[in-house]
Amino acid sequence: MLSSQFTEMNSRKIKFYNTLTREKEEFSPINKREVLFYSCGPTVYNYPHIGNYRAYIFADTLKRVLMYEGYKVKHIMNLTDVDDKTIRDSQKEGRSLEEFTEFYTKEFFKDIKAFNIIKPKKFAKATDYIDEMVDIVKKLLKKGLAYKSEDGSVYFNIKKFKDYGKLSRLVLADQKENASGRIKTDEYEKDNAQDFALWKAWDEKDGNVFWNTVLGKGRPGWHIECSAMSIANLGEQIDIHTGGVDNIFPHHENEIAQSESSTGKPFAKYWMHNEWLLVDQKRMAKSFHNFYTLRDLVDKNISPLAYRFWLLMANYRTRVNFVWEALEGAETALKRLYNLYIELDKDIGLSALPTGREQAGKVNKTYQNKFKEFIEDDLDTPRALSLLWDVLKDENISNADKKATVLDFDKVFGLGFENLKKEKIPEKVQKLVKEREQARQNKNFKESDELRKEINSLGYEVKDTPEGQKISKFK
Ligand code: AMP
Ligand code: ZN
Repeated sequence: MLSSQFTEMNSRKIKFYNTLTREKEEFSPINKREVLFYSCGPTVYNYPHIGNYRAYIFADTLKRVLMYEGYKVKHIMNLTDVDDKTIRDSQKEGRSLEEFTEFYTKEFFKDIKAFNIIKPKKFAKATDYIDEMVDIVKKLLKKGLAYKSEDGSVYFNIKKFKDYGKLSRLVLADQKENASGRIKTDEYEKDNAQDFALWKAWDEKDGNVFWNTVLGKGRPGWHIECSAMSIANLGEQIDIHTGGVDNIFPHHENEIAQSESSTGKPFAKYWMHNEWLLVDQKRMAKSFHNFYTLRDLVDKNISPLAYRFWLLMANYRTRVNFVWEALEGAETALKRLYNLYIELDKDIGLSALPTGREQAGKVNKTYQNKFKEFIEDDLDTPRALSLLWDVLKDENISNADKKATVLDFDKVFGLGFENLKKEKIPEKVQKLVKEREQARQNKNFKESDELRKEINSLGYEVKDTPEGQKISKFK
């Protein structure tokens, strides 16, 4: 891209809601052109449910917005392939941790393709970064921010990090009496904030999952995994870190504590979190047994892209309640949009013919400016989506321009418009159209009329316009 174009694009103000400041802030990345972006990815111990996919579709939409605005995006997503849950469930199934997590990783990859999520630049597997994790823990021990417990595990001393609680707005002084100890499990609640495990000394429950390191025989805690993978792939300071709201505490709070204590620098500039997908007003979660997966959607004839479309109808920071009727409505609405789009091709007609006369459409600037205004306002996808309908129904725009505009917006929506099949005009009809073109150039109108009749008999209509013949199927 030309630098002048870039400057022009970036003189526009993009605003994102930053959980760290609880405000919408103007986006200004560390490097002018490349955004350093880390998303907390799945724990590969089961099929992610569609609530989890809200987090990944949100991260993908955010990335698409940044790309649309002219930024390069270096996006890293982790795969948690060692933690309490993966160890527990691989043992239940009697499979090795590697074989078990590999299976669910592959399933995850299939799902993200179906949701049209652009693959991150890299998927970082936690087990590939044990050395980097150990290095951070060593630094924290050396700086006196971490300590070893009796069993050889290493804990982060939250009282020694003065900013502890800055993301989740937790005040340590308000903690319950019993919360003054330490916690070894990966997940716990905010009112139970305690020193958390950086390194877990091996115990029998871990079976054959352990690494022999300078910290002893054991495995990493969940939180240190993301700090290490983010720093290793993106450097000590990044622009955006995403996850669902439940990641704010303890996961992201702990990531900040570990990363900032070890590097001495602010970790992520913008922390962005998607809200819950609810079922009967309760968060969708594996532990509540109220979840659905992509397979359940497909069984009910709801396409994964209709789910994506439905999510885009709400802002990522509002809670959405899952009901089948709403999903069915989204499926119908998306099909209507697809049909309106396909209809455009019928009248473009000659575009299917290799005559070189096809007029490439232009993105409508008035609509595009509105579109940018919406997406730059903290990803206001509901308002941006309404423009799709407006464009498709606007009688003052040519079909070719409508197409170009829809495809332009779909770079952000990711609803797959570019894959919709253009109606193919049969070769026989194409041949007759070309012959008719020749006849008309030779002013042989009798032949031209006969050719028209022949084309009609094959079910196609010909209109002569200043740009040439337009072909469409008889309705
Ligand atoms: P996990 O595999 O449990 O670490 O979750 C993966 C991602 O899904 C995290 O970013 C969570 O915050 C997010 N998540 C989990 N449940 C929901 C839900 N019901 N709605 C929205 N996001 C969720
Ligand atoms: Zn994470």
